[in-house]
Amino acid sequence: MESNKKRIYLSSPHMTGNEQKYIDLSFKTNWIAPLGPNVDRFEEDICQYVGVNDALAVSSGTAALHLALRLLDVKAGDKVFCSTLTFIASVNPILYQQAEPVFIDSEFDTWNMSPDALKRAFMDAEKEGNLPKAVIVVHLYGQNAKMDEIVEICNFYQVPIIEDAAESLGSTYKGRKSGTIGKFGVFSFNGNKIITTSGGGMLVSDDKTAIARGRFLAAQARDNKPYYQHSELGYNYRMSNILAGIGIAQLSVIEERVKQKQAIYQRYIRGLSDIKEIVLMPEYKGTRHNRWLTTFYIDSEQPLFTPFELIQELERENIEARQVWKPMHLQPLLNEYRFYSHSEHLNVAETLFERGICLPSGTNMTEDEQSRVIQIIQSFVSRRREQHFIANF
Ligand SMILES: *Cc1c(COP(=O)(O)O)cnc(C)c1O
Repeated sequence: MESNKKRIYLSSPHMTGNEQKYIDLSFKTNWIAPLGPNVDRFEEDICQYVGVNDALAVSSGTAALHLALRLLDVKAGDKVFCSTLTFIASVNPILYQQAEPVFIDSEFDTWNMSPDALKRAFMDAEKEGNLPKAVIVVHLYGQNAKMDEIVEICNFYQVPIIEDAAESLGSTYKGRKSGTIGKFGVFSFNGNKIITTSGGGMLVSDDKTAIARGRFLAAQARDNKPYYQHSELGYNYRMSNILAGIGIAQLSVIEERVKQKQAIYQRYIRGLSDIKEIVLMPEYKGTRHNRWLTTFYIDSEQPLFTPFELIQELERENIEARQVWKPMHLQPLLNEYRFYSHSEHLNVAETLFERGICLPSGTNMTEDEQSRVIQIIQSFVSRRREQHFIANF
């Protein structure tokens, strides 16, 4: 019977209705290519919305990260510092360049890169005479990392920052849009992100020369000749004009989407406030959190339940929830690389992975559907409490 209930997703695409207009336009004008007026306009709209000089629309957020590393001349054997608590896409481009990732732990205020761990990683790298070529800072689930502290450390060592803002479009840090503080910012428009082109990404920077070179690399690095001549390694990374049309319509409602996501988060706060073990991801002072996904962790030495058990319970009711990202330094692919924990005693990313859960946060989820999610969590937790009480009686 349960399986008859309509599935509630973690965060599914939410169309505005205007996307079709731009798609139709590309068909009418026959701009069915990885360039064209929709691509130009989407890039301009992003520049205006986040406040940067230049933007390059590409086929994915991963492609944008890869280009950023190329533009910073990251090569085989170079080191790149990277947040450990993230999706694998933050790291794969480092491996594409045969560079060496060094993983930096999170801290509890933001769940993002720990400035303490970053500082220790830099001190060691300096001692070894091998500073990183770049630092990739991830803004997890829409929350900005502590950029003031991170920028100060990176400026001291003169190492550029790439902001992986794939999850944080629409968030702000002290009045500035997420993704515009480092040398490069990267956004993703994958199907589950706050806005989508079904698949796509954007590289942004104030450095127009760098973006122009990114444009060249993203289009197979063709030399300026009347024939096809190539002197450098390039990629086929440009965004399709059809998909950019979807992006234009999606971006026009980003502010509305952030408000809807924040309202979803507020309803979870109210609905779960009496379960004291649940600690929702905070919003760091001076920032706006886009609340792409509402997440919490179970703050208890003897937890009543594991994230996996709650996720299974929700799955039985046809509701999609997910564990917090498994840290990169724990991945079988990556466990040979170095990792710096927040402190000697605190390994924050591992704790958040073991105890953290992402709740359904789609902007097309109805209030009734969200109430169903809350009610299932409530009854699951009270059953666990009773069992616990009886067991300890
Ligand atoms: C989604 C995501 C990416 C990659 O974006 P794609 O467009 O799927 O390639 C990179 N980093 C993080 C943190 C993400 O969530």
